[in-house]
Amino acid sequence: MEHLKNQDPDIYRLIKEEEKRQIDKIRLIPSENYTSKAVLEATGTVLTNKYSEGYAGKRYYEGQQIIDQIETIANDRAKSLFGADHANSQTLSGSPANMAVYYAFLEAGDTVMGQSLPHGGHLTHGWKVSFSGRTYQSVPYILNEKTRRLDYDQIRDIAKKERPKLIWAGASAYPREIDFKAFSDIAKEVGAVFAADIAHIAGLVVGGEHQNPVPYADVVTTTTHKTLRGPRGGLILCREEHAKAIDRAVFPTLQGGPHNHTTAAIAVALKEASSPDFKTYASQIVKKAKVLAETLLADGFDLVTGGTDNHLILIDLTNKGFSGRPIAKALDQAGIVCNANSVPFDQRKPFDPSGLRLGTPAVTSRGMKENEMKQIAAWMHEVVNDYTNESLLGRIEKEVRDLCSQFPPPGLS
Ligand SMILES: *Cc1c(COP(=O)(O)O)cnc(C)c1O
Repeated sequence: MEHLKNQDPDIYRLIKEEEKRQIDKIRLIPSENYTSKAVLEATGTVLTNKYSEGYAGKRYYEGQQIIDQIETIANDRAKSLFGADHANSQTLSGSPANMAVYYAFLEAGDTVMGQSLPHGGHLTHGWKVSFSGRTYQSVPYILNEKTRRLDYDQIRDIAKKERPKLIWAGASAYPREIDFKAFSDIAKEVGAVFAADIAHIAGLVVGGEHQNPVPYADVVTTTTHKTLRGPRGGLILCREEHAKAIDRAVFPTLQGGPHNHTTAAIAVALKEASSPDFKTYASQIVKKAKVLAETLLADGFDLVTGGTDNHLILIDLTNKGFSGRPIAKALDQAGIVCNANSVPFDQRKPFDPSGLRLGTPAVTSRGMKENEMKQIAAWMHEVVNDYTNESLLGRIEKEVRDLCSQFPPPGLS
């Protein structure tokens, strides 16, 4: 980055510092990952210079000879990887992808049903501060109070009573497999559009570690930068009958020109995700999460649902007598980065909730194994028991850095 270094040393230095942070820390935020060097390279290209409003073969400006090919490759790879009829790779991220689903199927004031945010759902599934809760009538479903899992009978009851036009399945903080077929049956019963949001688990779906919603859902949205390990972006997959409505909702309803450098990087990531190595990666993510969960349980942590089926773990700190925020801050100081998170039926406020959310996509990308997961759990145990002890946090931070130096992350080595 010689030019950047000379021309803008401030930004250059900060990028280098962030690079070092990503190398030196154990990154457990389940929505984050490391892309490959190839994905980074595609992102930083001249494709950012080109406008291409419209779709391949139907653009508004000339000079699309190359961009049309790139976008077509991205869409074809997405279709074949997920088994979908149609793909749109233009949405700028996961939230805009979800917004396009609303614009494709609903009018303002229509009723939408999604997993409540404090129960692990996403803002865009009808939460009140999001466009989705402000523009549409939201009738959220929550988890079962005893099992803290999805309760399909309860979801069916709400759907029958409220008759939503759109039902979302998908979550940002749910450690168990989602039964998309059950959601699809409920949506059919009440005549709702069924949208599955696999932002967090797309990589697990591709790797065969989670049920694929594509055969059951009218439309599937995802981010491309979480377990899928691509650049920051979004993808929409749908049945052929909805292709026109989805494409129109993305452009011209919501967006102008797509980010072509991102589209190219998505194509690269999708190629990587179709390799046998990626299957191994996805299964390793889940294996690591299970080992981390079992070790935390043995250390006396209370895990929501008692474990995990996927890449994600939700710790309820209530039994330890702490809240999530100060523990997350202390862990960060010790080199272990995660986030405070609400747990189902949380008695505390969202800004300082009772839980911690962890995930294994990033540590798996850098090749950490079972022993490292056990070590991470041991460090977490130490921090939680003495989280204001600065010298303890300093000691662990050094040990974390040493461990990390043995596992150079992809894209950064
Ligand atoms: C991350 C996430 C999104 C939104 O993605 P952004 O790219 O942050 O807009 C949407 N849905 C779910 C379930 C997510 O976890």
